[in-house]
Amino acid sequence: MKNLLLLATGGTIACRETENGLSPALDGAALLDFVPQLHTFCTVDVRDLMQLDSTDLTADDRLAMAQAVRQHADRYDGFVIAHGTDTLAYTAALLHHLLADLTKPVVLTGAMLPMGAPDSDAPRNLLDACRVAADSRAGVVAVLCGKILAGNRVVKYHSTRIDAFVSAGVPPLGVIGTDGKVRWDVPAAPPAQTAPDSLDPHVLLIKLTPDLDPTFFAALHGYPKVILETFGAGGIPARLESAVRALIESGTRVYITTQCVAGGVQLHHYAVGRRAEALGAISLGDRTTEDALAAVQCGEI
Ligand code: ASP
Repeated sequence: MKNLLLLATGGTIACRETENGLSPALDGAALLDFVPQLHTFCTVDVRDLMQLDSTDLTADDRLAMAQAVRQHADRYDGFVIAHGTDTLAYTAALLHHLLADLTKPVVLTGAMLPMGAPDSDAPRNLLDACRVAADSRAGVVAVLCGKILAGNRVVKYHSTRIDAFVSAGVPPLGVIGTDGKVRWDVPAAPPAQTAPDSLDPHVLLIKLTPDLDPTFFAALHGYPKVILETFGAGGIPARLESAVRALIESGTRVYITTQCVAGGVQLHHYAVGRRAEALGAISLGDRTTEDALAAVQCGEI
């Protein structure tokens, strides 16, 4: 029998209808009441960390999740974090970095429909997440709609479908069958030797648009770190070149990622990319935007 810790944070999975719309109301113990089957393979303790729509989560809240896992790492075989789906990909990517050295499973899950609602995905997701957390494979993953997604590859691509998440650029790590069996399709990677223990939330992410006004960049001078989400394989438009140069000269570190969901940045490929390299912008390589943000916030690049 495995010993798990459920960290409840809110999200649709815990929501009830109020006069102001859906709002988190169920605590972790109430969520567990809907999945009595899990007592056949694990025991679950609960910590109610917060009760928020994930839109309202801050860097401090995400650090609190990482700290709660670390604090209890010796006492439990695995961890489940019940989380809103809207920003689950950001939290998964951040925990992938902050808990990179952990030797236990950390599984984020959520739901598109509240626990107890007709046809809700919540019971299945929570049960599947517990199955994966009890499966002894170290690492931060998300478990949603029967799929196991690597923490740094999670992308929410649909705002209403039950199957709302994809694994960006790589296949899912595995699946949970309708018989409840966990099947891993990708070999496990060993935990890292070390992990960052803090983060700098002062990272700005800017999506380039075809007509972005170059004068806008002057307002950012001196801001610590700016990620430009650029087009395709990455690059700086000629009409923004001097504005980005001035930004870098002001002391801002400028990073390049891509608006493409998969494939990453390859600055050396095109002249527009080499322009970015020549300016001193830093490529974030093959990362999702969420993982790029997490890597920069954690000071890994
Ligand atoms: N707004 C909700 C949240 O992210 C959506 C969800 O959980 O599905 O907290």
